[in-house]
Amino acid sequence: MSARQSPDAWQDAGACRGPHATLFFPPPHFERKVERLARERQAKRICGECLVKDECLEYALAVGEPHGVWGGMNENERRDLTEFLLPAS
Ligand code: SF4
Repeated sequence: MSARQSPDAWQDAGACRGPHATLFFPPPHFERKVERLARERQAKRICGECLVKDECLEYALAVGEPHGVWGGMNENERRDLTEFLLPAS
């Protein structure tokens, strides 16, 4: 990254940009568990091929993203990881 690039410039290289973007967040209507799991599985497959996966997950953990798949993890998985890395004292 050059000195002129924004710290969030990695987002421009995300594999989720474009028509796949809706897979990464819950729809505005009720979503059954089986539908959520299928949607997230598709999103995570895209994350698995993404060149900025590490930056994305690092960002989501740093800002505490409350929703969606970021860096190949949904919000529950990120919360579990955060609790594992930073156990309550
Ligand atoms: S890791 Fe996933 S959510 Fe993050 S930028 Fe890449 S494709 Fe998008």
